[in-house]
Amino acid sequence: MALREVRTNPDPILRKNTREIDKVTPRIQILVEDMIDTMRHAEGVGLAAPQIGVLKKLAVVEVEEQLYVLINPVIIKREGEEIGPEGCLSVPGKQGLVKRPKNITLKYKDLNEAEMTLEASDFLARAICHELDHLNGVLYIDKLASQEEYQAQEQNQ
Ligand code: ZN
Repeated sequence: MALREVRTNPDPILRKNTREIDKVTPRIQILVEDMIDTMRHAEGVGLAAPQIGVLKKLAVVEVEEQLYVLINPVIIKREGEEIGPEGCLSVPGKQGLVKRPKNITLKYKDLNEAEMTLEASDFLARAICHELDHLNGVLYIDKLASQEEYQAQEQNQ
């Protein structure tokens, strides 16, 4: 098992765009294993490649003991809205309320380069949207539903 260093805000790499993965090479497989180890070690529900300094369209999400490896993920449908709390391993010790779609449909490739479609709702949809934002250089603190709540929690640290 190999843990990678999680980059934290305001590390500029968190603000960069990412490139698609053409082929799942052994190097990518090791990267995915390391990301899973790092996510679990930090007790996160997701981790995106830029958070460990790799500018590729790759994220891992684990919700209710279901692990998803998302390669080149794209949301093709969004439905509804829900405001809920989020935190981020790259913004340690903080939480904030963010509006996300209640239901999403996602296309991505898995580790076998198979084209997958996933319908996700509620917390899983939120976790996936959060990780996909990382692939575009966006952090949840950019889209807080309530700035006051965020600052109140910050003062409690
Ligand atoms: Zn995050």
